[in-house]
Amino acid sequence: MKDPECIFCKILTGSAPAKILYQDDLVTVFPDRLPRAKVHLLVIPNEHIPSLAEVDETHSELLAHILLVCKRMAEEKGLEQSGYRLVANTGPDSGQIVPHLHFHILGGQRLLPVFFR
Ligand code: 5GP
Ligand code: ZN
Repeated sequence: MKDPECIFCKILTGSAPAKILYQDDLVTVFPDRLPRAKVHLLVIPNEHIPSLAEVDETHSELLAHILLVCKRMAEEKGLEQSGYRLVANTGPDSGQIVPHLHFHILGGQRLLPVFFR
């Protein structure tokens, strides 16, 4: 299912531009439009799921797959040794802007500590 108002769904249907780096039946990967690190990719499900808040046991396979794709993409970008961060902003307090589940992969440089209040 796609949401016609959703920017990531528009990328998935080809009605908004993005450089697709990887795609399979379940997930799609493209660079963030406004990179916050030297490497900044987004890994999204092809199905419109607003956030982790809407995920349940029926999504177990998808979630496992997303994490494995994150790991593989990080390796492809040469981040295996240097390290990287995965972020899945979820809901208003996280600052989530795009209501389509996505994992940020951030790396290629030393990142600031994650725990800010
Ligand atoms: P959030 O704050 O929701 O976790 O992150 C959404 C991310 O999507 C942001 O980092 C933002 O730069 C990125 N983004 C928003 N619109 C687009 C777009 O049209 N194309 C791409 N490639 N990234 C986008
Ligand atoms: Zn969507």
